[in-house]
Amino acid sequence: MQFSRIYASLPERFSAPLSPALLRDPQIVALNEPLALELGLDPDWLRSPTGVAFLSQGTRPDGAAPVAMAYAGHQFGHFVPSLGDGRAMLAGEVTDRTGRLRDIHLKGSGPTPFSRRGDGRAALGPVLREYVVSEAMHALGIPTTRALAALTTGENVARETMQPGGVIVRVASSHVRVGTFQYFAAQGDIEGVRILADHVIGRLYPELKDAENPYLALLEAVTVRQADLVARWMLVGFIHGVMNTDNMSIAGETIDFGPCAFLDAYDPAKVFSFIDQNGRYAYGNQPDMALWNLGRLAETLLPLLDSNREQAIEKAKSALMRFDTVFNDTYLGGWRRKLGLALEENGDARLAGRLLTAMHRGEADFTLTFRQLGEVVRTGQTENLLALFGPDSGIEDWIGDWQARLEREERSVEACHADMQATNPRIIPRNHRIEEMIQSAVAGDYAPFHRLVEALSHPFEDAADGLDAPPAPHERVRNTFCGT
Ligand code: AMP
Ligand code: MG
Ligand code: MG
Repeated sequence: MQFSRIYASLPERFSAPLSPALLRDPQIVALNEPLALELGLDPDWLRSPTGVAFLSQGTRPDGAAPVAMAYAGHQFGHFVPSLGDGRAMLAGEVTDRTGRLRDIHLKGSGPTPFSRRGDGRAALGPVLREYVVSEAMHALGIPTTRALAALTTGENVARETMQPGGVIVRVASSHVRVGTFQYFAAQGDIEGVRILADHVIGRLYPELKDAENPYLALLEAVTVRQADLVARWMLVGFIHGVMNTDNMSIAGETIDFGPCAFLDAYDPAKVFSFIDQNGRYAYGNQPDMALWNLGRLAETLLPLLDSNREQAIEKAKSALMRFDTVFNDTYLGGWRRKLGLALEENGDARLAGRLLTAMHRGEADFTLTFRQLGEVVRTGQTENLLALFGPDSGIEDWIGDWQARLEREERSVEACHADMQATNPRIIPRNHRIEEMIQSAVAGDYAPFHRLVEALSHPFEDAADGLDAPPAPHERVRNTFCGT
């Protein structure tokens, strides 16, 4: 097993070396064996005492020190010049089976020079939430960091109450964030921005090395990946919850599953995070917020885009223009597929928009509505679909127009149904199921955790496990707490 030290070998100011804090009694509660194999890591070694020391505190077999990465970030619109990994460490990179470099990063492993007033720890509940939701995102086909392992530490952490401590071991194509660029730019360290940009291009966007203006090409490439990512979130009803610039990955992967949630009933203004009082990161605001964050990335790159500032701004604007085009392509293409439409017609966006209006009025469950549309195609029966909608939603009229539109499709009903059920999941990580799973785990019963992980690993298959049901009124989760 070979661990690299690529990020840690960048200039000193990029990261801080850590001496692993010894945890009392680290124990693996979940090990993602298929992912371990994909990374070329031996699951038996990971379960051995030296493997557990690696997973819980970053102790590498080669003795090299893990590092905390430096970054800054706009948090809810306010710039904080120094954040950094306050309770996380980059243990190193591995080359996976396909030859790609992947970061192995531990969260909850202890304090770092960036901890500020934090304790450097994580509670078990948010660790398990991140494990479940990040793996669910992967199974839904959405770019994301992955979960390699979840551990308990044998220590308690002080939150609203005392809670068992945990560590999540996450895997990413890179942990460089928009906020990493901001860290150097805010200090006027243009050379730092350049070194970072070259590192990112080399690792994530090697095809851009020979572009006429590689830094402009980088801005455009990140814009394209983020636009595509956020459109994919919208299509499954995902609310990230804390889209600060330090939580936006340069690799275009979903990262930082703190107060995230999936919509139950459709509502574009939906916010779950109790720290997001103004709804900045509401479901329907996510595309705008992503573009705002990309604007902050663009600012850091201006000195590299052109020696003339006006020219640099014009170039950055043209790169950011790509956002709307790519977002709309993925988004509209996704809606067509969700509605069973293989042909493209001009009225399709309006048809999708009218369904969302009916869902909002009728407080229809997002996931079940789309799954049921597929059943309507297969059986021609609309009762189960109608039952998802409250009064005066307008869904009956919509169904008539949709069916008329489907008449013009040229493929078989079977092909249409199969395609719809392969894009409209039966199951997403429901907030109330996650809360229930966390409560059980904290009480020592991990069965609901393992059941959720298993079911969410094949979200498009039919099953009768009851995990697809929306919350009963008393089960509804209004807030998700920050990933502390
Ligand atoms: P987040 O809201 O999860 O994106 O975290 C924002 C910043 O706060 C990051 O720099 C984290 O490393 C830091 N942070 C969050 N929780 C803790 C903690 N318990 N101890 C130290 N730093 C933390
Ligand atoms: Mg974060
Ligand atoms: Mg977080």
